[in-house]
Amino acid sequence: MWPKNLHSLMLLLPLLVNCRVPGNNKRQAETNEDERTASYWLEQAQRQLADRLERTRVTGGGGDKRVAKNIIMLMGDGLSITTLTAARILKGQHAGQSGEECQLAVEQFPYSGLSKTYCTDSQTADSACAATACLTGVKTNYGSIGQSAQGAHVESILQWAQRAGKATGIVTTTRLTDASPAATYAHVKKRTQELDIGRQLIEDMPGRNLNVILGGGLGKFASERTDGRDLLQQWHDTNPNGCFARTLTELHNCSNDHNGNLLGVFSDSHMAYHLAASPDQPRLSDMTAAAIERLSANSNGYFMFIEGGRIDHGHHETRAGYALDEMLEFDAAIETAVRLTDAHETLIVVTADHSHTLSMAGYANRGTSILGMDTSQRDLDGVPYSTLNYAIGKWQSLNKDGKRENPAPHLSRTSFTPSYIHAKGVHSGEDVAIFAQGPQSHLFSGVMEQNLLPHLMAYAGCIGQGDTHCKQLK
Ligand SMILES: [Zn+2]
Repeated sequence: MWPKNLHSLMLLLPLLVNCRVPGNNKRQAETNEDERTASYWLEQAQRQLADRLERTRVTGGGGDKRVAKNIIMLMGDGLSITTLTAARILKGQHAGQSGEECQLAVEQFPYSGLSKTYCTDSQTADSACAATACLTGVKTNYGSIGQSAQGAHVESILQWAQRAGKATGIVTTTRLTDASPAATYAHVKKRTQELDIGRQLIEDMPGRNLNVILGGGLGKFASERTDGRDLLQQWHDTNPNGCFARTLTELHNCSNDHNGNLLGVFSDSHMAYHLAASPDQPRLSDMTAAAIERLSANSNGYFMFIEGGRIDHGHHETRAGYALDEMLEFDAAIETAVRLTDAHETLIVVTADHSHTLSMAGYANRGTSILGMDTSQRDLDGVPYSTLNYAIGKWQSLNKDGKRENPAPHLSRTSFTPSYIHAKGVHSGEDVAIFAQGPQSHLFSGVMEQNLLPHLMAYAGCIGQGDTHCKQLK
């Protein structure tokens, strides 16, 4: 039967001719309806995994017999590739070097790839749908967490790990009920349902079985609640041997004195940016170390999710200085995770949920301050410009005639970066990077759909209901 709108089919034709959808020859219009179900994405990911295993067999790269006892997923929220490059330069310049030659922790990882971040109804992802893909293997609608676009609840890899007897933990610099960490344990249609997300964290599976919970957002536990619950008290009641920390000092005391579960909530809302934090707020690397120490006590291994959540916030404010500093905090956490684990038994995967519009423009000389101006050239009107720019954001550097002004007087270590005017910075839709080391890390290479990631981790760790390395070894 002819479609009602022949014109839209004509528009689709070049796509149908040129675009290969892995394991699916259906027309796009039919695929969109299928994409609203969890089974579509779970089956699609298992096909991608099978393709990848076959490819490795053909190229002789499948010699890695190791199983991942421990899995650590580190997610940089809004960590675009430009952010990686600019943060690397900043890291080097902090060390008194030119900067470009410096290395981030992930540059020691043997494998890297790219992931496609679109969600079922959006070309550009938010953290909710992207983290749901990264943690449950199911792509969903913009703003949804832990459920398919149809609304069916889907399990996260954290739950698969618990079922296999592994310890589990989440660590973030945002509120613990914010979208990315919530995707490890919650099921909501809208990410704004944070009070319900908080309740799920303390009362429901798999949240109530978490061994380590570290981050911000104490308000959602008690003071902001409208249902009379005191989630902090509930946690104490169900974890009589647990240790609760509100500061770095208390976190250290928990490490020294306790073997029970660990809850640390270090701020009422998001934790402060590292650049603006008090000395008694733990850094992401402090929380990472405390979590690994606690989770390593389990002889069956562990799964842990660690988020550098405020890279994204710096970008939304178009304050590149904050975003890059938060990236360097994330880098330090990756270094800590590498240092405290054995690469032969621990799979470490580093990625982002989505990108941001930060660009690095022009032909600046080697060693140019990455948070400063291009000192070698000017724009067509002879006006100086900063190397880093955002495509869109609250601040702008146009005068009343619409001409660019020299932004130099407004630049400081954390100040805004000039951009086109809008309420705030926005996400962008291009692919993001993936880095992996440890057992089966060779599978994390090339370009992949974002929802493949938990299937690859589950394969390496022999957890979940899909194909696993242990099944292949039999
Ligand atoms: Zn964002």
